[in-house]
Amino acid sequence: MSRVHDGLPASEGITFGRVRILEWEAPDVPHLTLDQDQAEVEVERFHAARDWSRERLGELQEKVSQRLGSMEARIFDPQLLMLDDVEVVEGTVRYIRENRLSAARAFQWRMLELQTRWVRTANPMVLDRLNDLEDLQIRVLRRLMGLPDAGEVASDGEITIMVARNLTPTLVVQMDPDHVRGLATDQGTRTSHWAILARSLEIPAVVGLVDLYRSATEGEDAILDGRIGRIILDPTERDQDVYRRRQIRIQEWEGELVQLSQEDAVTLDGQPVSLRANLDLPGEAGRALEHGAEGVGLFRTEFLVVGRSGMPGEEEQYQAYKHVAETFPNRAVFIRTFDLGGDKFPMFLHMPAEENPFLGWRAIRVCLDRLELFRPQLRAILRATAHGDIRILLPLVNDVEEVVRVRELLGEEEAALKRDGIPFSSGYKLGALIETPAAALDAAELARHCDFFSIGTNDLVQYTLAVDRTNARLAHLYNPFHPSVVRQLHQVSRVSRAAGIEVSVCGEMAANPLGAFLLLGLDIDALSVAWPSLPEVKKVVRSFRIEDARTAARKALAAPTSRDVTACLAEGIGSAVDLYAFSGRWSLSLP
Ligand code: PEP
Ligand code: MG
Repeated sequence: MSRVHDGLPASEGITFGRVRILEWEAPDVPHLTLDQDQAEVEVERFHAARDWSRERLGELQEKVSQRLGSMEARIFDPQLLMLDDVEVVEGTVRYIRENRLSAARAFQWRMLELQTRWVRTANPMVLDRLNDLEDLQIRVLRRLMGLPDAGEVASDGEITIMVARNLTPTLVVQMDPDHVRGLATDQGTRTSHWAILARSLEIPAVVGLVDLYRSATEGEDAILDGRIGRIILDPTERDQDVYRRRQIRIQEWEGELVQLSQEDAVTLDGQPVSLRANLDLPGEAGRALEHGAEGVGLFRTEFLVVGRSGMPGEEEQYQAYKHVAETFPNRAVFIRTFDLGGDKFPMFLHMPAEENPFLGWRAIRVCLDRLELFRPQLRAILRATAHGDIRILLPLVNDVEEVVRVRELLGEEEAALKRDGIPFSSGYKLGALIETPAAALDAAELARHCDFFSIGTNDLVQYTLAVDRTNARLAHLYNPFHPSVVRQLHQVSRVSRAAGIEVSVCGEMAANPLGAFLLLGLDIDALSVAWPSLPEVKKVVRSFRIEDARTAARKALAAPTSRDVTACLAEGIGSAVDLYAFSGRWSLSLP
């Protein structure tokens, strides 16, 4: 019997490989008390270990910079900052001098103290920082104890799926991507620095697997699907068959990329569909274009903020937005304003710990409260309007007033740009992400103030069903085909049509074949998906008739349960699409 573990998808792709358990832990540090005269020697040793670590991090940063670009290389900034952090350095030196501890012991104590303090806040962004802290701690301790640097994982030439409690950016960057073709961790989130790096390196990854580390066995066969967030240990023949078919299909599409990217996204009966890409980093724009994106439906801008010690400057932002706009001339580029809070807490905002961060100070709420962060972003986006068809997308809008306020701010920033003689185009559009039931139910009011809507189903599902999207334990309850979600999608689509504004969907539901079928059947105008999914979605779109999708959507709207919704859609799409070969937890668990 195979053992299936479901977690959260973090980096696309399917891998068949052997499990390798990766243990990286802080070494045991012996407790030694120093003689009085040794203290200064230990202080020196500590500083030397810091210097060496800085150099080592610099080398890794350079490696990433060459392979992936300078933006990605900034992932190491937090560790470099911690190396010089007064709390870290002075605290350690004090323990050496006052408590006569060895440099290793003193450093370990200090890091433990900081970890304990941070753990108490228990928000995911701080947990990501803890991950950086641990990485640094291990590196410095191993240096002080004369051990080789951690993470130099020897390759045995086999295709490997690394299983670990958690990973770090430095571990990931040291892995050989020709052999390490899968990463599976108990902890971590999609926004963990190492997960962002895995996406850039195109290594499939699944996070939040809770107890995989305990149940996986070194050397056993496994299949990892980074799209749906699943790992199958000791897979059966049938599992092998399903995933082989899917993998072969994806490889074929990769082979056909050039040809496919030139084909139109159009249904069998001639209905054109706009297929756009979701980007997490500006560097992905080129790949998205190669994959056939007709614009960018969601450019997440948190990369400019997460893990930074200070607010991003206007010029840096402008360059990033301009780069994406210029990659897609004459195509829509939806730039989402900072979606902070929830699972992303930049240190410099000093966000208070919250009981329910996803119901807390998040997204547009943060931006409207912190204009010193928001205004430079609006200005940078306005400047980018001179280089393309820019749409400004506001996350987690609940109220008309939020949109009205942003329009006012934009007006002020436009006036300032004019005064300064800086070019921009006033032809940009402003719209809302529909991510809460409040926004969906109030869409008619919002439509009077918005130039477009984009439905963020990842959040809409979470808030409608009261199921935390980052909780792997509840993953089976997180169902975008719940009738309550389907009805809201229908409502927003209807309202948009009546108001004459475009409505798109940029949540992961759009990348699922049944999801795309339903959404187009509900008359959603455009779909935006993670760029690696574009060929697959285009294939799906080209294989059914819009009339069949509309009929199935009508039936789905009347279906009493999620299972019935999925059944209507599966029946409607029929044999046009081999659902078992396609992605999606929901299609794989069909009857
Ligand atoms: C969404 O909520 O569906 C969405 C696209 O935004 P994110 O996943 O970044 O929250
Ligand atoms: Mg969202």
